[in-house]
Amino acid sequence: MEEGVHYACQRCGNCCRWPGEVPLSDPELDRISAFLGMSLHDFIADYTDLRLNRSGLTLIEKPNHECVFLDGIDCRIQAVKPDQCSGFPNQWNFPGWRRSCEAIPVPLKEIDKSV
Ligand code: SF4
Repeated sequence: MEEGVHYACQRCGNCCRWPGEVPLSDPELDRISAFLGMSLHDFIADYTDLRLNRSGLTLIEKPNHECVFLDGIDCRIQAVKPDQCSGFPNQWNFPGWRRSCEAIPVPLKEIDKSV
């Protein structure tokens, strides 16, 4: 990670369109199902699948591999989205991530001044 820089998401939605698992912890399952006004059982049945390594649950994808909760460029569960989603690209990323992500680097000292 680059020291002293925060990458400000520009909501391009690209990271919501990559194929791949979005693992869900128990607290995430609880908060997303509650946000949607669904029972935990119904949420798991309708929106999750077993991870490939069978270690837990992941969000399902649309047939085109977009996240099931992507609506245009909006996230239907933005307020309660999984940690994997909110953590990218500042808490985790991968080699070459900047070619696909439009987040803008902002020096942390500028953010400190604005609060
Ligand atoms: S790819 Fe980057 S800029 Fe685009 S929505 Fe994801 S984090 Fe934000």
